[in-house]
Amino acid sequence: MCCSSNDGENRNSTDASTPVDLEGIKGMRFFDPHVHMTSRTTDDYQAMYDAGVVALIEPAFWLGQPRTGIDSFRDYYSSLIGWERFRSSQFGIKHYCTIGLNSREANNETLAEQVMEILPLFIMKEGVVGIGEIGFDDQTAAEEKYYRQQLELAKDAGLPVQIHTPHRDKKRGTRRSMDIAIEHGLSPDMVVVDHNNEETVKEVLDRGFWTAFTIYPFTKMGNERMVEIVKQYGSERIMINSAADWGISDPLAVPKTAALMKQRGISNHDIHLVTYQNAITAFGKSGQINEEDFVSIKNIDQSVKFEGNTVLRGGQQPRIDKASIIIS
Ligand SMILES: [Zn+2]
Repeated sequence: MCCSSNDGENRNSTDASTPVDLEGIKGMRFFDPHVHMTSRTTDDYQAMYDAGVVALIEPAFWLGQPRTGIDSFRDYYSSLIGWERFRSSQFGIKHYCTIGLNSREANNETLAEQVMEILPLFIMKEGVVGIGEIGFDDQTAAEEKYYRQQLELAKDAGLPVQIHTPHRDKKRGTRRSMDIAIEHGLSPDMVVVDHNNEETVKEVLDRGFWTAFTIYPFTKMGNERMVEIVKQYGSERIMINSAADWGISDPLAVPKTAALMKQRGISNHDIHLVTYQNAITAFGKSGQINEEDFVSIKNIDQSVKFEGNTVLRGGQQPRIDKASIIIS
């Protein structure tokens, strides 16, 4: 749940018709800590790999329409730790996820109760690097109730939290999200506050939380403005993501913004922190991230199967190659 239609402004936006030159960042490695790959195609995986994305985090979110039963949640969580991780590996990208009850569906309390019962079965699985994305959407009482319960779950499990901040009344919702996290005894360095903008960045940084930004194409948080934020606030505890999903979004937002930062004179050190290292430091507190895995996953073998299924389709020859992921 990230690309709300409420972000309809178009100033200083990323213009998709002007291709960003990725030459300047060739050889750099990127970590996208918020991208919904289940909604994306294999072309996206290939393009991300080619642009230097070596690892990503897929937060659990909603489907764009309400789920009608608990089994839909169960299958979705299973796919995040199963098939989607496998699919990503087949394109040379290490896949992690965060698991949680999203804020919109927290408002269906009958279902939310059942989700809370199954969450503990998933959060300790391999590759789960946090509880997320959770927090406020409409800032209702039910959203608050399940946000609090999931903060407790994260605290007990020793896992980082990935907070979705609301698109409407963002400043108040962001402050409230942080206040409640503190109230539950979470350390700010275990909490990533996402979807920040110029209105929220100072307070989130000042309070010691990880401060994440989503680069939305054609909307107000475009990459031009992200460059200005890094110029003003530096690179400490700041990270960027694409939040790409089934809506209009760009899975290359992280490398493209890195390229723009480079063009605008931001140092390689700062770019590295904002587009790679800070996310690893934050979500690495789960004990689940090992950078060596990014390297080993490059040994792509598309003949490998996941429960009998492969990413290949009729007649395609598997590529078993360290240098290329193009199906031959
Ligand atoms: Zn999202």
